[in-house]
Amino acid sequence: MIIVLLGPPGAGKGTQCKRVIEKYDLAHLSSGDILRAERAAGTERGKKAQAFMDSGGLVPDDVIIDMMVAAIGKAGDGCVLDGFPRTVVQAEELDKALTDENRKIDAIVNLEIDDDVIANRLTGRRSCPDCGAIYHVTSLRPKVDDVCDKCGSGLVQRSDDKTDVVKNRLKTYHEQTVAVVGYYQQVGKIIFDIDADNDIEKISAAIFEKLDNLLAV
Ligand code: AMP
Repeated sequence: MIIVLLGPPGAGKGTQCKRVIEKYDLAHLSSGDILRAERAAGTERGKKAQAFMDSGGLVPDDVIIDMMVAAIGKAGDGCVLDGFPRTVVQAEELDKALTDENRKIDAIVNLEIDDDVIANRLTGRRSCPDCGAIYHVTSLRPKVDDVCDKCGSGLVQRSDDKTDVVKNRLKTYHEQTVAVVGYYQQVGKIIFDIDADNDIEKISAAIFEKLDNLLAV
């Protein structure tokens, strides 16, 4: 099963992905996480991506498509794509690559949420650089301020969660990624629209209900 999780930055894609992969035993392929790992490792691709990521813009399509198609190939039977595709060109190229492998996207989960809610979520988000756990300064506080509950590392604010960069990421989302939903509608994919301005548990329950139904067909 291949699921694409769409939604603006800060809609909770990472959090929901973790829950979906556990329940359905799928691989989690986050383009943002893979790029951050490439940057941390100092690879050529990481270096190419750096300036685009730091400004809140998109990394060029060819860089991302090659990286994600390779990751999907390595991931085995099923995966959830998180943060990819983010442009219509990426969506088209992904479809072509999957068709070549006799595979296809089974469904799109589209998280919907207003920009002002997102801006608050993102600028207050803190994450663990070591284990990837995610917190929020008001709504999901760790037991000890700025320390990860799971591994004890110091929490950090992602450089692209700073206010100006968040504004630019939202602008980029509206200018380039909203059209991806239109593309999937046009090619007749199953799209589940989910209200993401809700409790984490309720959002997961809404997603699970849709995916359970899909698997039962
Ligand atoms: P994320 O963690 O998904 O918010 O991604 C962080 C940053 O990585 C984005 O703001 C982009 O600069 C870059 N990025 C991640 N996924 C993509 C993609 N599919 N296309 C282009 N750039 C991406």
